[in-house]
Amino acid sequence: MRKPLIAGNWKMHKTLAEARELVNSIRDGLRDDAHVDVLICPPFQLLAPMAKAVEGSRIMLGAQNAHEASHGAFTGEVSVPMLADAGCTHVIIGHSERRHIFGETGSLLAKKVRAVIGGGLEVVYCIGETLEQREAGRTQAVVEQQITEVIGKDIAPDRLTVAYEPVWAIGTGRNATPEQAQEVHALVRSKLAAMYDRAAADSIRILYGGSVKPNNAEALLAQPDVDGALVGGACLVAADFLAIIAAAGSVVTAAR
Ligand code: PEP
Repeated sequence: MRKPLIAGNWKMHKTLAEARELVNSIRDGLRDDAHVDVLICPPFQLLAPMAKAVEGSRIMLGAQNAHEASHGAFTGEVSVPMLADAGCTHVIIGHSERRHIFGETGSLLAKKVRAVIGGGLEVVYCIGETLEQREAGRTQAVVEQQITEVIGKDIAPDRLTVAYEPVWAIGTGRNATPEQAQEVHALVRSKLAAMYDRAAADSIRILYGGSVKPNNAEALLAQPDVDGALVGGACLVAADFLAIIAAAGSVVTAAR
């Protein structure tokens, strides 16, 4: 059974004082059980202090983006070696806001994914269709293309997590139903099986993201191919993030 991962994408939120308060509350509220992996992805300026704040806990630290080069004249950018130096173990690549607001393309994301893995970190690679694409019946084609244009056999499966985040569900309060999520997750896993093999595909975690909240988390996480959640809004409130982690723990316990 794949161990669930609950990841929080803080986006462009929190000052240092606010971040300390949030992370301390998450630390204090985390149960001892090690059945669920927990990852927080604060903005760049908080990474080094948050690395200190999570020291000695089982909370892992990730970044929300990285540049594809290791160093150089790229004003305003941050590289993978810098993120590793700050204490990150994971980097989110291809979030829909990076694709749609900042124009990141498949070929750029393919370079970024390889930079993350080449730098010794794990990647959380985001995919997902827009509402227009879903309504045009193109969900499968879009998701398959987002996988094939970025992921390849050269990407070690044990360094890869995929996050399915339908764009229409991000920050809208409108989540995919558990059945809709399961349908796409199963499709993603079969695509990964065709690319790698069945054993590798079965080992890769596929997270669902898009308005995951305490009241819908358990039903989503109970789906056989939903291996965790990438959480935006609800990860900014410690009680909500902890409730989603607890929901993942309940699903694991119920399956034993
Ligand atoms: C996200 O940004 O990755 C996300 C899923 O946001 P929200 O949970 O707020 O929809």
